[in-house]
Amino acid sequence: MNKLVDSFGRQITYMRLAVTDRCNLRCTYCMPAAGANIVERKELLTFKEMYRITRVLTELGVNKVRLTGGEPFVRKDLMGFIKMMSYNDLLDEINITTNGAGIAKHVEELSKFKVKTVNLSLDSLSPEKFAKITRRDVFDEVWNTFELLEKSGLKLKLNVVVQSGVNTDEINDFVALTKDRNIEVRFIEEMPFNGVGKRAMDEVWNYTKILGEIKTGYPNIETLPLVKSSTSRLFKLEGAKGIVGIIPAYTRTICSDCNRIRLTSTGQLKNCLFDEGVYSIRDFIRNGASNEELKQLFIDLVSKKPKDGFVAEANRKKNKNVSESMSSIGG
Ligand code: SAM
Repeated sequence: MNKLVDSFGRQITYMRLAVTDRCNLRCTYCMPAAGANIVERKELLTFKEMYRITRVLTELGVNKVRLTGGEPFVRKDLMGFIKMMSYNDLLDEINITTNGAGIAKHVEELSKFKVKTVNLSLDSLSPEKFAKITRRDVFDEVWNTFELLEKSGLKLKLNVVVQSGVNTDEINDFVALTKDRNIEVRFIEEMPFNGVGKRAMDEVWNYTKILGEIKTGYPNIETLPLVKSSTSRLFKLEGAKGIVGIIPAYTRTICSDCNRIRLTSTGQLKNCLFDEGVYSIRDFIRNGASNEELKQLFIDLVSKKPKDGFVAEANRKKNKNVSESMSSIGG
């Protein structure tokens, strides 16, 4: 079987697929108050196109897909799509990243399909602060989803974007959640993907500073062994049910064993979060390409995957500065 291997010998086995660029929240670190620029509906990949692209990729060795967005559950009939995707016998896992607002009714059904892990974004444990960050009053809904997911048997990860001057005082409250809950709390370095670009911050909260803060509360937290191709570095409190992760998303010390590609909701292939989008897979298939041609295209494009996020950023041609919203890229 042909495989997707880049020029550094890294094999691609994981795709992040943005099923929409629309979102029901307006998180301050992700987009301006008026929302990110969304595209016309016909520009978005259809579910059939997403299924076909995924099938071809799985024939090239991809065995995991993460559905993201925008907010994946905002796309009409996402559950039907998950069901459709679960028929792909070459796919082992479907994971979902969601903000959890208004999805309680779907939680039970998720585990019937190939969904293994849900990443729930939750940046504050204070309803007031949460409303300020998301610009929507949905804390109770999201907390309800959190509790349902915890009971569901699905693997649950909490995504916490660490925002200088906003939620850094809650880092150790989040760590404390892992004591008696079988969850992974992941602290993510804030990146300039917010529709505007780099914003002024009082302090840079990078991996080292986040870990330093955790150690002020929990000096004996144990460092767990590295997991190949994982985006997070993992830690555990003694006797805890859950674990803590830190994702050096912006300092980019995790690129050397990257196994991922991304497809935006408009079908742009991204070899790296920091590149501009290297090819319109949507246009290629809408122009009549066969599956064999699509396979060859993926093999060629992946062979050019940049070494790391810094090289990818330096290669940008049009928008030199990283400023798109994560919501249109697919976080
Ligand atoms: N709507 C879903 C959600 O909120 O989880 C999925 C899409 S969202 C863009 C995916 C992830 O990207 C979320 O965990 C979000 O917190 C993260 N994210 C968005 N903007 C970011 C930024 N500027 N820096 C770091 N992470 C960001």
